[in-house]
Amino acid sequence: MKSQHFLYFFSSILLIGSCKNSTENNKSNNFFPADEEKITSIIDKMSTEEKVGQTCQITLEAILLKDLEGKLIEPHQIDTNKLKIAIEDYKVGSFLNVSNHTFTLEKWHKIINTIQEFSTRTNHKIPVIYGVDAIHGATYVQNSTLFPQEIGLAATWDLSHAKKMAEVTAYETRASGIPWNFSPVLDIGRNPIWSRFFETLGEDVYLATEMGKSIIDGYQGDSIIDNYHVAACLKHYVGYSVPESGRDRTPALIPQRTMQELHLPVFHNAINQGALTVMVNSGEVNGIPGHANKYLLTDVLKDEWGFQGLALSDWEDFINLHKVAQTDSTVKDAIETAINAGVDMSMVPTNPEYKKYCEFLVELINEGRVSSERIDGAVRRILRVKSQLGLLESHTKVDVNDYPKFASNEHRKSAYNAASESVTLLKNRNKILPISKNKSVLLIGPTANSLNYLNGAWTHTWQGLDNKYNNDFPTIKNALESYYPNLAYFEGSKMIMQDSDEKSIQSEDFKKAIIKAKSSDVAIVCLGELPSTERPGDIYSLDLPKEQELIVQELSKQGIPIILVLVQGRPKIIREIEHLSEGILLAYLPGDQGGKVIADIISGKINPSGKLPYTYPKYNGVIMHYDYKQSETINANTWKNDFYNPQWDFGYGLSYTSFEYSNLNIDKQIIEGNEELNITIDLKNSGTITGKEVVQLYVRDHYASISPPLKKLKRFTKIELNPNEKSTIKFVLNNDDLKFYGTNNNWIVEDGKFSVIIDDLKKEFNYVN
Ligand code: BGC
Repeated sequence: MKSQHFLYFFSSILLIGSCKNSTENNKSNNFFPADEEKITSIIDKMSTEEKVGQTCQITLEAILLKDLEGKLIEPHQIDTNKLKIAIEDYKVGSFLNVSNHTFTLEKWHKIINTIQEFSTRTNHKIPVIYGVDAIHGATYVQNSTLFPQEIGLAATWDLSHAKKMAEVTAYETRASGIPWNFSPVLDIGRNPIWSRFFETLGEDVYLATEMGKSIIDGYQGDSIIDNYHVAACLKHYVGYSVPESGRDRTPALIPQRTMQELHLPVFHNAINQGALTVMVNSGEVNGIPGHANKYLLTDVLKDEWGFQGLALSDWEDFINLHKVAQTDSTVKDAIETAINAGVDMSMVPTNPEYKKYCEFLVELINEGRVSSERIDGAVRRILRVKSQLGLLESHTKVDVNDYPKFASNEHRKSAYNAASESVTLLKNRNKILPISKNKSVLLIGPTANSLNYLNGAWTHTWQGLDNKYNNDFPTIKNALESYYPNLAYFEGSKMIMQDSDEKSIQSEDFKKAIIKAKSSDVAIVCLGELPSTERPGDIYSLDLPKEQELIVQELSKQGIPIILVLVQGRPKIIREIEHLSEGILLAYLPGDQGGKVIADIISGKINPSGKLPYTYPKYNGVIMHYDYKQSETINANTWKNDFYNPQWDFGYGLSYTSFEYSNLNIDKQIIEGNEELNITIDLKNSGTITGKEVVQLYVRDHYASISPPLKKLKRFTKIELNPNEKSTIKFVLNNDDLKFYGTNNNWIVEDGKFSVIIDDLKKEFNYVN
């Protein structure tokens, strides 16, 4: 059985059951067959240099032609001398990415076929494994299909969209000849200022776990990884997303309990789902750099969880143990530390650094500082993944004709569907939305007319800012123009990155826009942030630039109703302008289809159904999460428990229709041991149009020896209902869902009172061990 969740539809009853921590029904990563005998016979014949080469991953730039000043020649061409040195002399086993370029399928084929051609000239003819960051579509392939970024996917609360994104991305990545994807990011999004927040599946461990498993299934397929699937790479194991300072790759402090309850389960479940590879956290947790953490890499990941695949370093992180973390006084010591901690492959990744890496590692093996068991173990894992991907079987060239669905309408439609279910309606005072076609519309704002801003980073280029590779899809402006003949567009303000912070400057047309407001029926104001990731994405504050707020403030003085459209990877603080707006749509980073989707929602063609995958903060200085504790709520000014007051709650999102919850029932007042608790709830579409609702089931443990959160998400499902249609939804819980990591550092469930919470309804029950 493939997934922990089974959906049974009989008449209108929907049953959602699962065992949260159980893994018995999951695939293990032994699931994908590998030719172990062949691998053994290759390893037996390999020299130390050949083994070391397999563990070395370099960038494409390392083998490209450069001019006399050291600049890459355009268009990129392989320097066959450099390639020969890399593959024949240093026996390099892996390549990654291409920076600042997006290639056609044909160009990719040429590159990969040339590299593989060289690998056939080596002793054991082991092909290179090429990996790439295709995190919301085939990032570096021209004309590929681009989906919402992960934060938007999570906002769909629909696992089928997560799986579809991964299937399409796998297909289109494989079409370029690349079989390995550095995705998904499974870091938990608890710190919204962190520059990679948009790459996460939100703040909740259960939502991220379920989404993550679906993404793995989509990337890797069911049985063998054929030419339409890729190996997934879980990032960034583990604890990368919660740096204390909020800045990328800076130290995190994670107590053991939080590690066990919040960070590890997502990775553990993804490993049980069969994920073939893992990328290591570039930062440090509790003072120990991810790449030096033998406990997490070897004891937990490999020994305890039985992970059979390969652990890849992140960018330059062997070297960084010396240069950045300063846990090792030389690069050679750093290599020893990382390999012995359990990292199997090193993304070195530049030239000539990779040569030094290979030379040092050979020395370390010869000196006995890295044992032959350890190096053989690393090589076995690498060859295993190559075998699972079919790379050890043949050197078949990729043929573009094998991928007729590349960039097809079918793929585009899947991306459109995902984006349309991600956009979250946060406010709709007096049903201002949808807007009828005869209205005169004033469209303004820095994100209204850019495909780059809809896509975010990791789109065609690393930071996603270059528009030369953009696909031909409408921006919000283009798409709205096709609905509203009477539309006037103004930029209002421009976004810039200055002194490591996001700033805006007022555009020249701003004043004209304010004048135009007097003769328009409604203003659509598109705000947000610049695409960015990693260190270029480090900012100082979640505040929206003043110039963006000013657009709303000045328009509101004209008395025109305002609709905000937020195109942003992290929640920007909008407290000062929220009350000035009648309608608010959060688009996240919806990808290439975002413009059309936003216009289709504004015009009423689509009924929005996204729900927040994170708690939207009201203030910059107070970041709370939905699973807060009683102790976090006490307001010392009033002595009331009202200190949890985010802008919007996790799981929140409106629809153009309304839903009524009723009849929450549980089948037992007391559950004992591993008995199941059956829960039913009725949901009715009480409005006038068809809509989708996410039914969210939370559990509260009233008293526990570790002070408990007031609720935790345990189940969810998304269902569509026609006007007046009613459905009974059934959930099943068991004691796994009541467990926490106790004082003795193990998972326990304590006797006592619990509540099931769905919407505003609650039912109490008791648990007895
Ligand atoms: C990022 C990874 C990425 C790698 C390769 C690193 O800087 O942290 O997420 O996969 O680069 O592009």
